[in-house]
Amino acid sequence: MKKDKFLVLNSVKTHNLKNLNLKIPLRKLVFVKGPSGSGKSSLVFHTIFSESKRRFINSLPTDMKFFWDIPIKADVESISPVLPVWGLMQLNPIVGSRPNVGDLLSLSEQLQRLYLYNAREFCPKHHELLLNPFEVNLSSVFNLAKGNLHFFIEKENYQNFSDVLPSRVYHEGKIQSFLEEAPLWELARYKKSSFDKAFKEISQTLKSLAHLKSLTAIDSEDQKRKIQVDAGKSKKCPKCDYSGVDHWGPEIFSALNAHGACPTCKGHGYTLNLSKEKLVRDPRLSLKDGAFHLLNSAHFSSFQKVFIKEAQRLKFDISKKFEDIESKELWNFMLKGNNKFEGAEELFSYLEPYRYKRSTRIFIRSYQEEVLCLNCSGSRLHSRSKALGIFKRDSKFLSFSEVLTMNLSEIEKSIKDIVLPKEFKLLQKNILNLLKWTKQMGLGHLEVHRKAKSLSTSEYQRILLVKYLSFEGSDSLIVLDEPSIGLSAKEQNVLIDGLKALVEQGNSLIVVDHSEHMQSSADYIIEMGPGAGVLGGEVLYQGPLKKQKRTKRKVLKQDTPSFGEIAAKKIEIFPDQYRDISLKTERIHLVTGDSGTGKSLLFLRNIANTLKFELEGSLEFDNRPLKNFKIPKHLKRCYIFDTVISRYSSRSTVGSYLELAPYLRKYLSNLPQSKMLNLKDGHFSSNSELGQCSRCEGSGTVSFDMQFMEDMQLTCDDCQGKKLKSFLAEISDGHYKVWQYYKLSVQEVFEIIPTTPKAKRIVDFLEKFNLSHLALERPLSSLSGGEVLRVKLISQLMKGVFENSILFFENISFGLSSIELNIIIDFILELKQLGNTIVIIDNDPLFEPVADSQHIFTRNQDLTVSYFIK
Ligand SMILES: [Zn+2]
Ligand SMILES: [Zn+2]
Ligand SMILES: [Zn+2]
Repeated sequence: MKKDKFLVLNSVKTHNLKNLNLKIPLRKLVFVKGPSGSGKSSLVFHTIFSESKRRFINSLPTDMKFFWDIPIKADVESISPVLPVWGLMQLNPIVGSRPNVGDLLSLSEQLQRLYLYNAREFCPKHHELLLNPFEVNLSSVFNLAKGNLHFFIEKENYQNFSDVLPSRVYHEGKIQSFLEEAPLWELARYKKSSFDKAFKEISQTLKSLAHLKSLTAIDSEDQKRKIQVDAGKSKKCPKCDYSGVDHWGPEIFSALNAHGACPTCKGHGYTLNLSKEKLVRDPRLSLKDGAFHLLNSAHFSSFQKVFIKEAQRLKFDISKKFEDIESKELWNFMLKGNNKFEGAEELFSYLEPYRYKRSTRIFIRSYQEEVLCLNCSGSRLHSRSKALGIFKRDSKFLSFSEVLTMNLSEIEKSIKDIVLPKEFKLLQKNILNLLKWTKQMGLGHLEVHRKAKSLSTSEYQRILLVKYLSFEGSDSLIVLDEPSIGLSAKEQNVLIDGLKALVEQGNSLIVVDHSEHMQSSADYIIEMGPGAGVLGGEVLYQGPLKKQKRTKRKVLKQDTPSFGEIAAKKIEIFPDQYRDISLKTERIHLVTGDSGTGKSLLFLRNIANTLKFELEGSLEFDNRPLKNFKIPKHLKRCYIFDTVISRYSSRSTVGSYLELAPYLRKYLSNLPQSKMLNLKDGHFSSNSELGQCSRCEGSGTVSFDMQFMEDMQLTCDDCQGKKLKSFLAEISDGHYKVWQYYKLSVQEVFEIIPTTPKAKRIVDFLEKFNLSHLALERPLSSLSGGEVLRVKLISQLMKGVFENSILFFENISFGLSSIELNIIIDFILELKQLGNTIVIIDNDPLFEPVADSQHIFTRNQDLTVSYFIK
């Protein structure tokens, strides 16, 4: 077959793209660069990816199409050839509660397959293989045979087994050539010289034909004697009476099946337990002042009095800080109570009958935390599966449920070590290849049962990336969005090698990535620009990589005075490793290093969380504040800008979050047609019952509950995704229709509608941070991590200026070109000039020249982590 050399696109007009005709080389590593909003995603994802996927799905039979969300047709005249396409979009995932790391990697599925066909039953106590009387029986048949051995089964069973007639049968006490009416037909025969091989084959046959209860063996030297070989009958541990699982099949390896799932956690791997952190939210309060947070709630406030009385009687000091009197006895009393005070566990059981109310469920949940299930240790499987394992080289068993409690590098080691028949070597190799990439991408420490929703954005992205890097196919088109986010330089090099290997295999890669280090590995560059939105959408350059002059910044490191230091003694940095921490104020501290080394755990979830608590009295994360923090008096506030979206409603949009949408609604309700129909602002809001499409309740999509899988979103048929009632969506002011306004960029909307000084400030900030190309209706959940962070930053800037504050930025460089990042860096330098303290957790080297100190985390060969300050 002749292979096309180029992907040819004609007349592309998707979004802001200006009627582009493009030829993109195939089987090359192509990078697309340019400022944000210049049309990179419109070209790569909304045209090439989406159109290739649409054509692919349209080629499927109709009944299969139903299960796919068919992408909307892109505005392109032609695209050829149409290749199978795979895409990784950089989004903030909204993940259900069930999937774990193993599911995301499809690792659980592959291991399941490995175990289903290779597992053998053993005694969990003695680690001995359970012996089947049949196996004992069969080996004696072979041992005692004088001549060749023939195996027969009943005629009816034979016909289930094979369409080909046997050449021999057993009839009237002897082996004969084929005869229809004979009751026993021949399944196999073995010469005496091949008995070793025969034993294995026959046991396999018996095992694979579960319905087969027995075979008849005939010795060619003694044809009169029928030897019965039974398949069934219980097996047993040679050392005890353990007799294993009655019957097992695929279901026993699946946590999605009632037979296979752990009964304690119902196959979740985690259980919900009362959380001490949530029962006592501020350990600095005394019991008298309400440290037992549960009793401050309206439901239970009447129990506070008796609790205090009993606590006093039991000699707990009720006026001391909780953290100073915390003990096992105290917790026991708080949880279990005594004959006068019910205790938290009992109090919650009062609420059980009201669980049907959403508010009750939310209340209960607010005092619970997810804890690894004690029964299955997170494997999600019923204890039955503990007795099914595969032999390792040391002749020990490795059970499936044991594997599911390991981290990815331990699994890699174990899977290398198991003994498998030839036909499973390929599966083993594929699994090992997948695991090799997880290790190289710094994910080896992740336990396979880790919940997807507990992963950081960067870990989640890297997991998806690993799936691509371990892709074994060829002739596919793979498009990736910002695959380098959060990766250290070392990890970026691994990624580059992986991408090049995919090209070697014959795939075509189109990558959007802002990292100049990544771009320097490109075979071919497409540069979009010059500006964002209507000012972009053109191809400025395409061709091989040009030598680029790196935008060096002149560092104006002015030595402004530092007025204090944040200090803490003996902070646990890694398990059992303690360090003193000291951060000078009015300085820029840069935190860099390999991913998954605990940078964010230390600096965000611990240090920032504690500062937020000490300065503002509220916690940002669930973690308990650290003790003995020394904080200078002049420090007033703490701001945390991270890339996590989950704390916002999935319904938040750019327009609603930044409070820009009300301006548009006011404008629309003041149009003459609106006045005539007596329409209010709410009629133009998809969040108001007045305006929203009633079928999809204003979401624009209808979700299908796919049990155990993520819900599937399909465009709402009633409003075609316009979210509003049809007659409202179609109202026009002569420029645009209502629904179009919500899809226009902020910049375009506010060129038309009247603004106030406040709205103008927001729009100016959006422009400054390269976000004004976003549409008002764009959900925050669909933004990239860096975009979310910048939107949060603007929202905070609108509330006031930063003074005497400490600001934490996590991965603020995501998705920014170096020019854009320099604008942010200038902004950060301004913040420092104003007397603020800055902590930046980010691997982009552009931050290094402006940082006053650098905190570096590295992962060593043995997966241990070290931390030092430069
Ligand atoms: Zn035993
Ligand atoms: Zn469990
Ligand atoms: Zn609708």
